[in-house]
Amino acid sequence: MTLKLHDTMVREKRGFQPQDPKRITIYVCGPTVYNYAHIGNARPPVVFDVLRRLLMKTYGESSVLFARNITDIEDKIIKAALDTGEPIAVITKKYADIYNADMLALNVLAPTVEPWATGHVPEMIELITKLVRKDYAYTGKDGVWFSVAAMSDYGKLSGRKPGDNEAGARVEPGEDKRAPEDFALWKFAKPGEPEDAIWGSPWGRGRPGWHIECSAMAAKHLGRTLDIHAGGVDLTFPHHENEIAQSECAHGEIMARYWLHNGFLDMGGEKMSKSLGNVVLVHELLKEWPGEVIRFAMLSGHYRAPLDWTPELLKQAKTTLDRIYGALRRVWEAEGGKAAYRGIRDALEDDLNTPEALAELSGIASAANTAADQNDAAMMAATRADLLAAGELLGLLTMTPKEWEQGGDADDTARIDGLVAARISARAAKDWAEADRIRKALAEEGVEIMDGAGGSTWRRI
Ligand code: AMP
Ligand code: ZN
Repeated sequence: MTLKLHDTMVREKRGFQPQDPKRITIYVCGPTVYNYAHIGNARPPVVFDVLRRLLMKTYGESSVLFARNITDIEDKIIKAALDTGEPIAVITKKYADIYNADMLALNVLAPTVEPWATGHVPEMIELITKLVRKDYAYTGKDGVWFSVAAMSDYGKLSGRKPGDNEAGARVEPGEDKRAPEDFALWKFAKPGEPEDAIWGSPWGRGRPGWHIECSAMAAKHLGRTLDIHAGGVDLTFPHHENEIAQSECAHGEIMARYWLHNGFLDMGGEKMSKSLGNVVLVHELLKEWPGEVIRFAMLSGHYRAPLDWTPELLKQAKTTLDRIYGALRRVWEAEGGKAAYRGIRDALEDDLNTPEALAELSGIASAANTAADQNDAAMMAATRADLLAAGELLGLLTMTPKEWEQGGDADDTARIDGLVAARISARAAKDWAEADRIRKALAEEGVEIMDGAGGSTWRRI
């Protein structure tokens, strides 16, 4: 099978052909860094990480260039700086670090490039200059605006045309744009805004609009025409529509050959969002669940369908992964097998059908159990290789079965290993009180030590 992807631009699945199989480019719009990411925000990075892994498998690891930007200048960031009195760079560094740590814990590969918006203001100014020169943009008293009427095919991604995109929208009195759908390329600084939110430009001091950030960074790092541009479905309009307007009018080339959008992650029947207040932070979830459980739960739905986030979904993911790791443990010693099973790849090549791929993964686990039951060494080695190859594609099974059974957190595992080793030394020194103290302390945090003929092991209960 060859890869088919649903392209929002044509509203159907079509075969994927890269421009250059040695240099495949993907741009995923990244976070605005002023607070913690919720699990809905993690859906695009996780699902498009699976796409990236699939492309790496098909075209070779070094052939896939993956950019995810950091939006580190924006109204909400400025508000956070004014509220806390902290410099913008301190706030954005803090939350970008947290975001990246959260994504790594979900086994999302680090992007090949991570452009920060504030590092690209000259490129944004250059792009706006081109648009002004070509009469796609005009200057008003509040900033520089993109004139939607100047672009004949504006609205082609979302299907919204100027005039019908915001029912009843009009230019408010006091606003200086020519049409309600015109959007800001450059926003002039307002009184009271912090100095670190202001840059000089040919039109006046201020800052870039959000959409121009992605147009400039994508072109600089990946080129004028991307293979794939992706993000959440709420970015289709206006963000991606406006990125297209800016990039295509400035460059005269199409911005991306495939547009991919994930559906919403919902909670309580509504889109998870900060404004509704129904959010679960990735950071908090990771204290309760191994990253792989969260990732598995995320991939249990098709990326374009809405996904209802519930405690049951996580419990189910944990149970299934326990079963799969249990099967992996039974074939773990059987090395030398060759991965041959195509089912998971076929499922992913059909527009990233991850629910199907996870069902296939459970199927391989069953085959591994059968192989172990029958003590079939060749089958055990083959299913082990298949499980690990599948894990690599899906970003799962990155731990050893032992690490998984011991709770999954590598740092914590090392700490508990250390305590268990200290107890063994205490016992060897006949310091029973100390040995007992360690055993009780571990029991209190739910860790049981098991003394056997071969030494002491432990497990979480
Ligand atoms: P935001 O912080 O709202 O700009 O969102 C960052 C990314 O997360 C964007 O790609 C959004 O489309 C995506 N996103 C936000 N909320 C959700 C949600 N509830 N479900 C899926 N994706 C979301
Ligand atoms: Zn973007």
